[in-house]
Amino acid sequence: EAKRAGHGDYAIFDPSMHDVAVARLALQTDLRLAVQQEAFHLAYQPIVDPTTGEILSFEALLRWEHPILGKITPADFIPVAEEIGVIREIDRWVMIEACTQLKKWHILQGRSTLRMSVNTSAAEFVDPAFLDNLEAVLASCNLPPQCLELEITEGIFLHPSPQIAGIIASIRQSGVRIALDDFGTGFSSLSYISRYPIDTIKVDKSFIDEICSLESTYAIVNLIMGLGKALGLKIIAEGVETQDQVIKLVDIGCTAIQGYHYSKPMSAEEADEVIQQRVLPI
Ligand code: C2E
Ligand code: MG
Ligand code: MG
Ligand code: MG
Repeated sequence: EAKRAGHGDYAIFDPSMHDVAVARLALQTDLRLAVQQEAFHLAYQPIVDPTTGEILSFEALLRWEHPILGKITPADFIPVAEEIGVIREIDRWVMIEACTQLKKWHILQGRSTLRMSVNTSAAEFVDPAFLDNLEAVLASCNLPPQCLELEITEGIFLHPSPQIAGIIASIRQSGVRIALDDFGTGFSSLSYISRYPIDTIKVDKSFIDEICSLESTYAIVNLIMGLGKALGLKIIAEGVETQDQVIKLVDIGCTAIQGYHYSKPMSAEEADEVIQQRVLPI
């Protein structure tokens, strides 16, 4: 780097910054291509009734296997998809894939009580065509809307749309349910649940991680349970990894649990098998 040392103005050009910019650009390009080619698949994680082991529902989780980089977590590529404006296309693909899969499971199971949870980005949610698309997908899969739950995050309330409450109301009127994901990690979680008509709260993993070790966190989760009961909301605990956590949660009345304790997200074929077993070991 003798050249650099001799020219002070070169110093502002940090090669590591350049690498980051190039990598980011490459990721954007690859993601666009992946969208065109529908190079994604879904993993499914069960949401379980802890007292019976019955699978109540599956959450559909997006997976992208990059041709060179391998598996990239959605937490890393979804922000990029939002940035380059392809998140709606991705969410739509997920919806069709998840609903098609759920229909197959209803047939396999011989009953239609199993539900599917699908994550929905803010951009998709506030799209005026969203509900029509959703109803079209449900109709084409011949699925009752009651078996679909949309997971939204608090980020949705920061989106500049005055009609959020109206959008939520019309979605729920159609029979589709709405869950508030990652509950407790945002700014004003409590004010959102009093202001917007939702069905379900998913208590974030960061709380679950501490319920056995921190009395104050346990008290907060207990409070959320009580609140859910008072407001008629279903509570799902997410990121549950241990038996001790399950015991604590059952103690305070939790009836729906998701996490590695029961199962990691799995392929559709793996899910076929656990569906046929009907219950997971508790
Ligand atoms: P999320 O919706 O809160 O999903 C739960 C995440 O926690 C998943 O990560 C899941 O694999 C992970 N998880 C579940 N149980 C456990 C556990 O016991 N321990 C640990 N350590 N982790 C657990 P994943 O699949 O990497 O997804 C990350 C996030 O990406 C999701 O968080 C969601 O916000 C977003 N996402 C995933 N799929 C989609 C999609 O189709 N569309 C949109 N818009 N976002 C998606
Ligand atoms: Mg989710
Ligand atoms: Mg979550
Ligand atoms: Mg999340």
